[in-house]
Amino acid sequence: MRCENPVMNQILDAYKPMWSLNHAISLMGWDFETYMPRKGTEERGVADSQLHMLYKDLLLSKDFVGLVESAKKLGNLGDLEKGIIRILDREITTQIKIPKELTEAESLERIRGNMVWRGAREKSDYMIYSPHLKKMIEIKKQIVEKIGYEKHPYDALLDKFEEELTVDDLDKTFGALTSRIQKILKKLEDSGSQFCKESKLGKSKYDIQKVEVLNHEILTLLQYEKERFRMDVSTHPFTEALGLNDVRITTRYEGTDFKKSISSTIHEAGHALYNLQCDQSLSGTPLEGGSSLALHESQSRFWENNMGRSLPFVQLVAPLIKKQVNFANQATDDELYLYFNNVKADYVRVDADEVTYNLHIAIRYEIEKKIFGDELSVSEIPEFWNDKMEQLLGVRPTKDSQGVLQDTHWSSGLFGYFPTYTLGNLVSAIIASKMRKDLEEYDEVIKSGNFKPIREWLRLKIHRYGSVYAPKMLLKNTFNENYNPD
Ligand code: MG
Repeated sequence: MRCENPVMNQILDAYKPMWSLNHAISLMGWDFETYMPRKGTEERGVADSQLHMLYKDLLLSKDFVGLVESAKKLGNLGDLEKGIIRILDREITTQIKIPKELTEAESLERIRGNMVWRGAREKSDYMIYSPHLKKMIEIKKQIVEKIGYEKHPYDALLDKFEEELTVDDLDKTFGALTSRIQKILKKLEDSGSQFCKESKLGKSKYDIQKVEVLNHEILTLLQYEKERFRMDVSTHPFTEALGLNDVRITTRYEGTDFKKSISSTIHEAGHALYNLQCDQSLSGTPLEGGSSLALHESQSRFWENNMGRSLPFVQLVAPLIKKQVNFANQATDDELYLYFNNVKADYVRVDADEVTYNLHIAIRYEIEKKIFGDELSVSEIPEFWNDKMEQLLGVRPTKDSQGVLQDTHWSSGLFGYFPTYTLGNLVSAIIASKMRKDLEEYDEVIKSGNFKPIREWLRLKIHRYGSVYAPKMLLKNTFNENYNPD
């Protein structure tokens, strides 16, 4: 990308080495989760933290900060140029406040804590992991104080993942959402709804190699280009974009309940599409990728839920499923549809259905808010977690692996991240309702397996802009909406 203004071009040139470091860090992160030998952890931790610090040196170099400062004074800038300055200025303003020792301590602890968490989760023993959680929270609290905040300390962490997001926003969102979801759940359960009857399709063991073939067939149906995209396997599925033309996802195979593997694949592919359909002119600039985590999650959730669990989609993929999953070959479309949409209040967030999912996030939000508001200590977290589970979902974990140890986020220092999942769900619902109005014969389009109009709609409304616009602005401009819980 070239700009009219020479200062902007100097900025883009100086950003190239930073982009390259991010590229390498992403590749290392992908490798850490997929193929790295376990004993490589400590060395990888050093390399990762050193690269992060090199990045920081470049970002905060006098010349670069000077260029961004002079660009801020320029008039007549276009949206793209304004976007570049907004992103870089945000990053400089935050990074300049965090001392190098803290950056280093956090990245070292990220790798160490994550490894210990993995072991603790296997043994279901919170005590093994809690010293690392305590250390990470201490580091994060120091970072919060350095960054600063207006109202709530947790705001400083939320803003990192979702520009301008605050505790006030989230209190409103969850305040309007939680009790209404509980009502829906109760209504479903009390009425003996078909959706609450557990399907036998989730019980039998499947052939992993065949479900792998099935996932690839679904990706082909969704038109993923093999030259720019790949899929591997990891415990926790994720998407890593190294650039706009090397986007990688992972999925998981647990051996039973095949819908989990399919849903994970479709979910991550939804994330990938956001990067793959970003305007190529933004490649190598601070604008490539998505506007925010919530916007990103709105894409994965749209494909996973609004699309992947819809009746026409299930009808479309039913023949593929029947071909690869032998015990499903007699299932009717309706049986498959009910299986994909089964509702059950249960322990594990990543397995949660559409109805209960946001209740899991409400729990994590409240815990994180209390941790950073100094209202909850590390030793009190497991019990508080279990109490909240019982209160909101009506189930009480009997071991830590079903409760506090289930998520990887805290061990990797990701505090303030969870709420973006719920915001993403809300935005995905907004998108689905707008798309239905714009695209005639929406259901028929899906049933016929022609996803082009849908991909194109998403590209034009959201994907092509990358992070040119902040999330609140993009929602306002494109949909005249916000993180609307209604
Ligand atoms: Mg996701």
